[in-house]
Amino acid sequence: MVRVKKKRKPAVFLDRDGTLIHDAGFLSKVSQIKLFPDAVKALKLLREAGFYLFVVSNQSGVARGYFPESSVKKANQKIQSLLKSRGAKIDRYFYCPHYPQGNVKSLSRVCVCRKPAPGMVKEAAKLYPVDLKRSFMVGDKIDDLLLAKSAKLAGGFLVRTGKGRKSAKVLAARPIKGSEVVPNLLSAVRKIVSSKGLK
Ligand SMILES: [Mg+2]
Ligand SMILES: [Zn+2]
Repeated sequence: MVRVKKKRKPAVFLDRDGTLIHDAGFLSKVSQIKLFPDAVKALKLLREAGFYLFVVSNQSGVARGYFPESSVKKANQKIQSLLKSRGAKIDRYFYCPHYPQGNVKSLSRVCVCRKPAPGMVKEAAKLYPVDLKRSFMVGDKIDDLLLAKSAKLAGGFLVRTGKGRKSAKVLAARPIKGSEVVPNLLSAVRKIVSSKGLK
């Protein structure tokens, strides 16, 4: 892939389902896509503050045989067009189609990209000059927080949307250093933006 030449900046890595859009289970139809309220506002605030914006999403439904890889791409394109129609955008969408116990043979294996493994973050850092030490992860699952750790980001925010309420209980029982629970994406973003000057 062609490396995009831009100046070194921090990034916010965003989980997709349950964080940026409503979690529709294994989302396969673009008609199921619904952005969370304030998602656009949140992305605009981050953009203004100088962050790259990347989506990093586990899409094991592909390896499980629930839907083809093309529907993940279509869904991401739909999200991007919804965002663009409102003046926001994601710089690039990364997804992991693998799952060790899947049904599609070629994708059913342990990989380096399924969160919490840092493969997608590393890929982003190859393509863009990302300052990982000043970057953050926002997601609704424990694996999103563990990704922040495995990729050595500045921190991870757990939103209470999607599966977040359940995850927050797990986190309370087994805290992960550098993690913080917030109501939703916009509240995570406000914290990220206001802490930026301190780092
Ligand atoms: Mg999620
Ligand atoms: Zn993978």
